[in-house]
Amino acid sequence: MKISKLLSLAALALVVPSMVQAQDLMAREAKADFQLKSSNVVKIINQAKAHEEASYAKNIYGNHWNNDGVNVYKGMAKPEELVINLKDFSMPIKSRVVTSKYGYRPRFRRVHYGLDINGCTGDTIYAAFAGKVRVRKYDAKGFGYYIVLRHNNGLETVYGHLSKQLVNVNQEVKSGQPIGLCGNTGHSFGSHLHFETRVLGEAIDPALMFDIAAADVVADTYTYRSSGNHKAPAATVAEPVLAQAKSAQETAVVQPKAEKQAAKRTAAHSSKDKKHKVQKGETLYSIARKHNTTVAEICKRNRIKESSTLRLGQSLTVK
Ligand SMILES: [Zn+2]
Repeated sequence: MKISKLLSLAALALVVPSMVQAQDLMAREAKADFQLKSSNVVKIINQAKAHEEASYAKNIYGNHWNNDGVNVYKGMAKPEELVINLKDFSMPIKSRVVTSKYGYRPRFRRVHYGLDINGCTGDTIYAAFAGKVRVRKYDAKGFGYYIVLRHNNGLETVYGHLSKQLVNVNQEVKSGQPIGLCGNTGHSFGSHLHFETRVLGEAIDPALMFDIAAADVVADTYTYRSSGNHKAPAATVAEPVLAQAKSAQETAVVQPKAEKQAAKRTAAHSSKDKKHKVQKGETLYSIARKHNTTVAEICKRNRIKESSTLRLGQSLTVK
């Protein structure tokens, strides 16, 4: 096959916005006066793809690169919408057992910004995607020994409580490359991997992207929206979670302020009111049925929305 034909094939296979870069690469290769092998074409395509992906992250983060910590982007504008390519995903640890989910932990009155995945000290920790090591630090009161990677797909991932870090800052890594060893350093009680996914410092529930139990991605892409499609689960995953999502009415978020106000008003109700303490597995619908009333009636009495998530032990006025 002639070089020109191979090049046009390569060009066809490239779905690259930065065609100039691709052409540069091809021109460089073409200069060499030899018959272009198909392996060379593959190499060119891969190089062009890497360029494309790296420039995708560059579009998001610009020249903002520092080695100081996890969220170093305060005040930086976020893109309205961002499609993150997840195809290249590698499991960060061999274990598929999530021991703690992302979300608000009432017991500690703070948000857990990642997933805890079970592991033994010394288990290898792998880069979830290709990219570059942005942070390699020690945080005695928090992450312990930790690593932050910036990936070409625009995501940043955090790996906390490591016993050992195996990569250095500014080092390029491939997807699935060992970057550390699992441990129990920092604010941790037992060996595990604390794994976070972030866009411009903003934490996103990794479970929206990865099915750890299945060692797979949820879908080939994840669409981040600055308006906050990812924020709902963050607030709803109050532990323990009630109401398994059967319908929209059972899943949406309780605004803590509204909740407090509702509780105050509930407390102000007369003693004639019939109360119901929320039990495990209950929904507004099941409670309404139990007390022979309607969801709308309960919502009205408690000044909550049909979309509110219930808490274990929450007291509702039902009649
Ligand atoms: Zn954690």
